[in-house]
Amino acid sequence: MKYLFLLVLLWLAWRGWRQMKRLAARPSAVVTEEWVVACAHCGVHAPRRETIDDDAGRHYCSEAHRRLGPRS
Ligand SMILES: [Zn+2]
Repeated sequence: MKYLFLLVLLWLAWRGWRQMKRLAARPSAVVTEEWVVACAHCGVHAPRRETIDDDAGRHYCSEAHRRLGPRS
């Protein structure tokens, strides 16, 4: 009976360790949020979530540059 308790304890520890490993492997979703893109007008690099997109999917560093459009 003592060994069964020890076995359950080991199993729980192993499960916890696996879950921790899974959580540690997850931050890839956060990395995509931190993606840096270039402004289509001035070329300044900014984090993806701070840029403004136009209808064509281009990224701009500010609303003013979005209105000016891409520089050719
Ligand atoms: Zn810009």
